[in-house]
Amino acid sequence: MAFDLDLFVIGGGSGGVRAARLAAQSGASVALAEEYRMGGTCVIRGCVPKKLMVYASAFPDAFEDAAGFGWEVGAVRHDWGRMIAAIGAEVDRLEGIYRRNLAAAGVAIHDQRARLAGPHEVELACGTRLSARHVLLATGGRPFAPDVPGAELAITSNEIFTLPERPGRGGIVGGGYIACEFAGILNGLGCAVTQFYRGAQILRGFDDELRGHVAEAMVARGIDLHVGRDLRAIERGPGGLIVQCSNGGSCEVDAVLMATGRVPNSAGLGLEEAGVQTSRIGAVVVDRYSRTTVPSVFAVGDVTDRVNLTPVAIREGAAFVETVFHGRPTAMDHTLIPTAVFTQPEIGTVGLTEEQARDAGPVEIYQASFRPMSNVLAGREERMLMKLIVCVDTRRVLGVHIAGHGAGEMIQLAGVAVRMGATKEDFDRTVAVHPTAAEELVTMKVPVRTA
Ligand code: FAD
Ligand code: NDP
Repeated sequence: MAFDLDLFVIGGGSGGVRAARLAAQSGASVALAEEYRMGGTCVIRGCVPKKLMVYASAFPDAFEDAAGFGWEVGAVRHDWGRMIAAIGAEVDRLEGIYRRNLAAAGVAIHDQRARLAGPHEVELACGTRLSARHVLLATGGRPFAPDVPGAELAITSNEIFTLPERPGRGGIVGGGYIACEFAGILNGLGCAVTQFYRGAQILRGFDDELRGHVAEAMVARGIDLHVGRDLRAIERGPGGLIVQCSNGGSCEVDAVLMATGRVPNSAGLGLEEAGVQTSRIGAVVVDRYSRTTVPSVFAVGDVTDRVNLTPVAIREGAAFVETVFHGRPTAMDHTLIPTAVFTQPEIGTVGLTEEQARDAGPVEIYQASFRPMSNVLAGREERMLMKLIVCVDTRRVLGVHIAGHGAGEMIQLAGVAVRMGATKEDFDRTVAVHPTAAEELVTMKVPVRTA
């Protein structure tokens, strides 16, 4: 059977763009539909603008610390509008690069919504139908908000990057990546931040000690963190928005950021009609090669709700191309994925938490908690925390957990060692780089406990 195309990709985000480019570079005829802006969540309203805001929000620390090193810093002022405009311009630049790279690879771009119209057919919003040997669903996810009265008064991460003015008082609902990162960003930018999380401790899923360390540091930095409080309602009051909580408490803010998770973007995609199975929350069900229940249709990235990170979506897209266009079946390995949370202080982590590891067998815990050199003259009390989780039987380092300045950069490299199966003795044999904070990773001699 002859098809119009070898591959049609629905969604121009991290996973879709990588797959489309690689497939086209292998000689396949490829088209891609994007309904919003090229680059997807990561480039337009995720990782990139978020990290730029993290940088913006870190300057007050530097201004404050400078005095300890002899600097006199005069009055400083932040212009929110200028920051938003600068970030917007950078996002525009990156979007242009994504678009040009796709075009240069020979991918036909359709700037409109698309849906699956059959196992080998895609229908564009304009009504055009195109057939393809393979279809890749890479439609990502979108913010989820609980169904509480007044939820529509809140903003999500979709809106925060274009807010025209800095909210003087910001309410944040949630305790995950986005909630905690934006608590730090808004706090650093001079906003009075109140954060509500329904559970006992923020950042569920991370190492317990690390969670406690970061939560304490966030509070010490001025974030008014309330755990064990669920959102009941948001109301408009005379002086702002009133956030009502499950325990009867309330607070008044200028803006509420709902950071209560994301759901896969699979509604209205024609999946059910085409026979593509989805989970209860709408995630496209795939096998280890990202193939859906319809053999010609594949799915990568957040729409499959496996590990929702940009590098994972990119790897899944590349593995799909290896499997389908190069005849080399390649499954993405979802274990030992290093990750950073750009909280203040930052988190970098890879492998098992202490809680996960001790359930699997006996472990030794090595730990260092110290004031980094830069904080001493600065008069800053904040400490760094580093933890190694070591398997007693194999001596392998099963997990590395870092909280503090540069944790994201450090964990990328520690991740290589852990991926290679490094033992504690491999860490010990590695000579320290002095004077750095990271040297603590190779100088922890005695376990603080076994578990
Ligand atoms: P997306 O990047 O979401 O792309 C999907 C694209 O499909 C979108 O452009 C959408 O418009 C388009 N689309 C959807 N439906 C259709 C349709 N029917 N027709 C046409 N087009 C359609 N990850 C990290 O690794 N590090 C970070 O620091 C980080 N920070 C983040 C910060 C925020 C605020 C958010 C929200 C996410 C962050 N992430 C981060 C997660 C990361 O952005 C996602 O995991 C990643 O973008 C997923 O890529 P994707 O290709 O699956 O989907
Ligand atoms: P997360 O899953 O990280 O956090 C969601 C938070 O919302 C949790 O604290 C969760 O609580 C809470 N929550 C969920 N449902 C409700 C509800 N009905 N009422 C009240 N609270 C609720 O999602 P995010 O939206 O923060 O981020 C989405 C994903 O994007 C992340 O998981 C990550 O994969 C990715 N991301 C990565 C970043 C990075 O790499 N630095 C940065 C930002 C996002 P509970 O824990 O109790 O379930």
